[in-house]
Amino acid sequence: IKNIAVLTSGGDAPGMNACIRAVIRTGIYHGINMFGVMQGYQGLINNNIKPMDSYSVCNILQLGGTILKTARCLDFKTPEGMQIAYDNLQKNDINGLVVIGGDGTFTGAKLFSEKYNVKVIGVPGTIDNDLAGSDFTLGYDTAINTVIEAVDKIRDTADAHDRLFFVEVMGRGSGCIALRSAIASGAEAVLLPEKETSIEDLIQKLKLGASTKKSSSIVIVAEGHKQGGAFDVAKRVKETFNHYDTKVTILGHLQRGGSPSSFDRILGSRLGFAAVNALVAGESGKMVGLKGNDIALTSLNEALTKHSYKLEDDLMEMTKVLSI
Ligand code: ATP
Repeated sequence: IKNIAVLTSGGDAPGMNACIRAVIRTGIYHGINMFGVMQGYQGLINNNIKPMDSYSVCNILQLGGTILKTARCLDFKTPEGMQIAYDNLQKNDINGLVVIGGDGTFTGAKLFSEKYNVKVIGVPGTIDNDLAGSDFTLGYDTAINTVIEAVDKIRDTADAHDRLFFVEVMGRGSGCIALRSAIASGAEAVLLPEKETSIEDLIQKLKLGASTKKSSSIVIVAEGHKQGGAFDVAKRVKETFNHYDTKVTILGHLQRGGSPSSFDRILGSRLGFAAVNALVAGESGKMVGLKGNDIALTSLNEALTKHSYKLEDDLMEMTKVLSI
């Protein structure tokens, strides 16, 4: 393999820059010419592909976002768009591609690698932690840290005013961020997309807390919670439980930004390093992930079709006990 390009696609996630740096430097170490593609698949179609040297990734390890920018590109979903993307790679003599993104990005990568003679390796970059083949996705740990920093602050004001807060966190259909941030912030309850919620049980739990002199309560609501977001749940609880003044906070996109945690810097570095080594070893159509403490390769097909992740039931049970 002579020339490799890297792109970031879909939603950005902290740690993507650490990964880009690792990809570029590992490639250079192997004597490969390295390229960066701007704005995900859109940059392939627009031929927005630039050579990158070791210096071009200086001082980015600690930055959130992605220096290559990211985009959602509808044209890449069409055969014509894919053909243009391939032609542009050909023009630059690029036959290896590292794509950092989520499941949409991997779907595009899988179809592209099956149709054209380009070797493609995926890196799971999404705060949602919803991909099979990696215990942790890039950005997930930082997002949890961001949530708990925010909830700690909300706790101060909730406590000062004896309030009940419903805090909505990201994760799309995955409750991973919600569950872990609930544990780490000592929330009184957590509502997940994967679990049926009984509003009655929630109210009982909050009543119990109030009776044991809890002066504030915090309920974390995953954005994908099937029985409604934080506003909906707060409204329903308020109908029958008025012990506290009730407030709602939607944390939103601040969860996507910020300097990556040490975990995400190291994960991004390891996955970027592993992605290029996989291409050098002739691999394609696979993603690199972390299983246990080891780097593992999983076919993109499996990563996309297997049930994506396991929400830890034991952690859910523990949360119930620790929040009494
Ligand atoms: P996140 O989980 O953060 O949203 P993602 O990678 O799932 O990240 P998407 O917007 O779903 O984000 O996908 C990113 C890009 O991947 C799309 O904008 C599109 O260019 C490409 N893509 C998605 N699905 C397909 C597909 N079926 N065929 C070709 N390309 C696709």
